[in-house]
Amino acid sequence: AFCTSAAVKSGPLKDEDRIFTNLYSRHDWSLAGAKKRGDWYKTKEIILKGPEWMVNEMKKSGMRGRGGAGFPTGVKWSFMQKPRDGRPHYLVVNADEGEPGTCKDREIMRGDPHKLVEGCLVAGSAMGACAAYIYIRGEFYNESCIMQRAINEAYKAGLLGKNACGSGYDFDVFMQRGAGAYICGEETALIESLEGKQGKPRLKPPFPADVGLFGCPTTVNNVETIAAAPTIMRRGGDWFASFGRKNNTGTKLFNISGQVNNPCTVEESMSIPLKELIERHCGGVAGGWDALTGVIPGGSSTPILSKESCEVALMEFDSLVEHKSALGTAAVIVVNNKYDVVYAIARLMDFYAHESCGQCTPCREGCSWMKKMVHRFAAGNAKEEEIDMLWELSKQIEGHTICALADGAAWPVQGLIRNFRPTLEKRMQTFKNAASGRS
Ligand code: NAD
Ligand code: SF4
Repeated sequence: AFCTSAAVKSGPLKDEDRIFTNLYSRHDWSLAGAKKRGDWYKTKEIILKGPEWMVNEMKKSGMRGRGGAGFPTGVKWSFMQKPRDGRPHYLVVNADEGEPGTCKDREIMRGDPHKLVEGCLVAGSAMGACAAYIYIRGEFYNESCIMQRAINEAYKAGLLGKNACGSGYDFDVFMQRGAGAYICGEETALIESLEGKQGKPRLKPPFPADVGLFGCPTTVNNVETIAAAPTIMRRGGDWFASFGRKNNTGTKLFNISGQVNNPCTVEESMSIPLKELIERHCGGVAGGWDALTGVIPGGSSTPILSKESCEVALMEFDSLVEHKSALGTAAVIVVNNKYDVVYAIARLMDFYAHESCGQCTPCREGCSWMKKMVHRFAAGNAKEEEIDMLWELSKQIEGHTICALADGAAWPVQGLIRNFRPTLEKRMQTFKNAASGRS
């Protein structure tokens, strides 16, 4: 049975339970303003509690990585505790936010940069890292300036560098701007790029926890994950775990765009029903709920939900999997009946075909092939049997490549066929009738 909203805390998330207090940059983001909003409070005491305590607290929180894959953060941090051979440890923050529809990390870096800087120190000390590298999307020029200024302020105040916060721990934070390639958000491509090479994904294993940046043990975490870490340490893992449902805990940033009355970025409890999220924060679907066609729930790589699923799905990892989609980056894209859903997926195919790095044949050839087919489908210029052919093609791509980019291209196509087959068939029929009428 599908999840129901019964297990979720009801009512909007209270302000005092929000981690991100400056999402729309209405307040001062500088160190003075950040401190007033609770950042850098007792950071030294947190560090002095030691890595064991911090990793356990993160495990207790149930936090699952906010970059899209949802790997348990505490478990990931614990990989860095294995006995090693003296190689330095690194934290890499993935700020290469490129998933279409997604702009939550951008909001954090614009309005709450000190949460990320403090998070680097806290998470870095938990994993015995000597430095953090924040790899930021090249297009986020303003955000990179804000981040650099926040880092400079932290050094000047003795919060970073030698004896950071007076804790006896030495820690540096460096910024690196990307150059606009979506694939550099894939963690191993990001590492290659940081090392000065072309951003092409590596085969895993070895995972970065064993062989990462400069061949050293590395944890790659998303901006939201790291920026939430100091609050989790201050308020406790149990506090964080009290939101959402088992296996889907915490508060979470959601971006909602597309055909809604008020597109926005908002922090809510994990597992909030999708319908409630749209109605509570976005003023509903443009044209009303009846005008809804479907929703892409977690960024462009996640399959579009049918309207029936939109009625009952919860915004969490498990419920969305039950509805044959995924939470991904929690970037909700709403499609109503004023927009052509087939064309929407065709536009996504343009993106993936363009961004494929070309290393794997199923991705390089398959993405271009899917792009051409879905564009023909959008025009109706295809035979009905090609729908099965496209499904088969997407299955040949999925799981047969080095990285998840190709899966991310195959899944939206599968969602379209699974939920909108009658729309595709009708369009092909109309095209055929018109063509035969003309001849
Ligand atoms: P993944 O499942 O391969 O890995 C998730 C994380 O867990 C990685 O850091 C990996 O190193 C680690 N991990 C997994 N198994 C491990 C093991 N056995 N030992 C050690 N570490 C292990 O997924 P991924 O390729 O990193 O991410 C894919 C997701 O990224 C997609 O689902 C998509 O939603 C998301 N995405 C996000 C953006 C964005 O802009 N935020 C862009 C593109 C894709
Ligand atoms: Fe490159 Fe695509 Fe292969 Fe990923 S799946 S390594 S993007 S060709």
